[in-house]
Amino acid sequence: MTDSPLRVLVIGAGTGGMALAHGLRRAGFEVAVFERDRTRSAGLHGYRVGIGPDGSSALKRLLPPELYETFKATCARPPRHFVMLTERLRTSIALPVRPAVDEESGERSVSRMTLRQVLFTGMEDVVRFDKEFTHYEQHPDGRVTAHFQDGSQETGDLLVAADGAGSRVRRQYLPHARVEDAGIISIAAKLPATPEALALLPDSVRNGIGLVLGPKGYTCILHTMEFPWDGEGRVKDGIGGNDAELVGQWPGLLFDNTRDYVNWGFWASTDKFPPDVMKRDGRELIDLVQEMTSGWHPALRELIRLGDPSTCFPINIRTSVPVPQWPTTTITLLGDAIHTMTPGQGVGANTALRDAALLTKRLTAFREGRLSLHDAVRGYETEMIRYGFEAVLASKRQTGGDQPIHRPYLGRLALAGMRSYFFVASRVPSMKQKMADAMHTHRGGDRDD
Ligand SMILES: Cc1cc2nc3c(=O)[nH]c(=O)nc-3n(C[C@H](O)[C@H](O)[C@H](O)COP(=O)(O)OP(=O)(O)OC[C@H]3O[C@@H](n4cnc5c(N)ncnc54)[C@H](O)[C@@H]3O)c2cc1C
Repeated sequence: MTDSPLRVLVIGAGTGGMALAHGLRRAGFEVAVFERDRTRSAGLHGYRVGIGPDGSSALKRLLPPELYETFKATCARPPRHFVMLTERLRTSIALPVRPAVDEESGERSVSRMTLRQVLFTGMEDVVRFDKEFTHYEQHPDGRVTAHFQDGSQETGDLLVAADGAGSRVRRQYLPHARVEDAGIISIAAKLPATPEALALLPDSVRNGIGLVLGPKGYTCILHTMEFPWDGEGRVKDGIGGNDAELVGQWPGLLFDNTRDYVNWGFWASTDKFPPDVMKRDGRELIDLVQEMTSGWHPALRELIRLGDPSTCFPINIRTSVPVPQWPTTTITLLGDAIHTMTPGQGVGANTALRDAALLTKRLTAFREGRLSLHDAVRGYETEMIRYGFEAVLASKRQTGGDQPIHRPYLGRLALAGMRSYFFVASRVPSMKQKMADAMHTHRGGDRDD
């Protein structure tokens, strides 16, 4: 065991940075997290994140046991199916989402804000808000000083960039590591899950995740999120004993305004949108999606129309360009800061959590005297670069603007091919099973690292 308490500075209090901070604190490190958001509840973070086996097992390893239980208790009802639909709301195929056979497997739906509040719980002395990182200096002895917009600075033994896709740390440390447009723009909005809104959805989508694949590569994902608390933030009736207690006594709910909602996310290749799309306001964006989906089923168009303009925004989807491993120093990166990916496979947050668990494991080996700091960081980076960039490329293959589905003629053939495949697979149990298994595997099921 090394007796010098290594001081780790983490830039960014997002999913990966906070999970790492929990893990390192539990392993006996001195850790400080610096977040540019001004307050604990700032930002538009209410959207869904799907946490698969990779994410759950990382959280289990990193969070204090009771907080991990709170994470599970504050998730929305898990999806039962993954349903592919036509734009006329006809089901092409409904794949069962594997139920959790133990507490780390299966698929969980969580609101980004709720997860954020879970991760802030008990970390009030570790996270400093309103600290926008600007640049760092690395000293000859390896120590690193981080500088912030307000003129303050902090020095530590290791600096971890967890500052997301636009990472300033990465821009200074690895200027050759580029992030490029994936050629996709997405527009998303939420609406309260009122009985009227829910009635617009087919049953399978109410209980699961719907993916509408329309002509021209126009795609829309639908999530129904039902939480264990009601509109007033009180635990709903019928929530299982321990969960009701955990949610009831969790202070995070004071900062979390997430309530039951339906979320739609529409995307298409960038060339299909007007040039000023990124500047349009919520109402204009909803009108635009309605125009683009003029031939779609009226119920779907109504759901789009009901989107709350204040929750609607455009995202220019970006993807990292993989780089070879760099010389190891006392600065490292995790999550979107190094491997941002398109939402194609829904594994960005899961991969950030996997990074946090792996880095904690390697640094713990250093603390226990089994590895030098250099070897601990080097080993982490070797592994993270491999699986992180693999996920980047796989996500881009699934949701990239250069895919055949977005091309004028080829796109029609690709859509017809996909629909024929789903038609056959939905009738041949072994093919259907194979599709469901593949979905489970790329989200970290069956992995045991
Ligand atoms: C539409 C969409 C849907 C998605 N759905 C899923 C999904 O279902 N499942 C999944 O696994 N992933 C999903 N993702 C990806 C996921 O959101 C990200 O991969 C994940 O949030 C990355 O976590 P992170 O900790 O690396 O970065 P972030 O969560 O982005 O955190 C970065 C933090 O750093 C802070 N920061 C930034 N710059 C500075 C600075 N200069 N100084 C201080 N602080 C700073 C930010 O404010 C933020 O709090 C989705 C992404 C999108 C766009």
